[in-house]
Amino acid sequence: MRIDVFTIFPALIDGFCGESLLGKARTGGLLDLRLHDPRDQTTDVHRTIDDQPFGGGAGMVMKAEPLFAAVEAAQPPRPLFVLGPGGRRFDQRMAEELAAGEGFSLICGRYEGIDHRVREHLADGELSIGDVVLNGGEVAACLVVEAVVRLLPGAMGNHASPVHESFGQHGLLEEPQYTRPAEFRGWPVPEVLRGGDHARIQRWRTAQALHRTIRYRPDLIEARGGLSETDRRLLEEFPSLTYP
Ligand code: SAH
Repeated sequence: MRIDVFTIFPALIDGFCGESLLGKARTGGLLDLRLHDPRDQTTDVHRTIDDQPFGGGAGMVMKAEPLFAAVEAAQPPRPLFVLGPGGRRFDQRMAEELAAGEGFSLICGRYEGIDHRVREHLADGELSIGDVVLNGGEVAACLVVEAVVRLLPGAMGNHASPVHESFGQHGLLEEPQYTRPAEFRGWPVPEVLRGGDHARIQRWRTAQALHRTIRYRPDLIEARGGLSETDRRLLEEFPSLTYP
């Protein structure tokens, strides 16, 4: 999959995407990540990519010309998204949509943001990674790239299928997990996980996923249409773990 990112700090993204599974996806040819610096498209001696906002106000705005020139030179795969807190909220479903496609591209803003003509006449949409404000789009771009590329067949190595994770098919947060030792500082691993009753383990896992989702993401329970009779029975069979 080809992914193009437009950023004035390409090293930030290159570093992050050069390690671990993303790095392997790149060297293995699964991910063709191309970074473009709009500063390379400037024509003045100061390589200016920002200017004061029309109408006044604090901070600087990224200029349209270098971004248009960078995109026109690169001919990046579409859809092309601007990253910004004012966009559509990026989520697992959108990661799945992008992973099913041929590729996509991202434009990282800095300063107060980007000249709106980039959003209006160059990009296909705007993506936000959540209700927070960052200094620039680079961390957001890394987040989107990682969430999408790990869904590509072969990107996870021996790791289990992403279907059973949080926000996966059952629409719940994932249940808590444990590994050895069975007892650590006097805190034991739940007894059911140490036995061999796989049906009971499965019921425990679903119950804990339900408890956790009810507590932290009641909106996800609502999105599934509330609790079923089976859900209620599971919640009664297994009490919630503690979440201080
Ligand atoms: N003044 C803007 C924030 C600019 S932050 C506002 O109030 O909406 C500077 C840049 O950081 C943005 O152009 C964008 O590319 C990036 N950024 C900040 N928060 C982001 C978020 N939640 N999602 C995606 N990108 C974000």
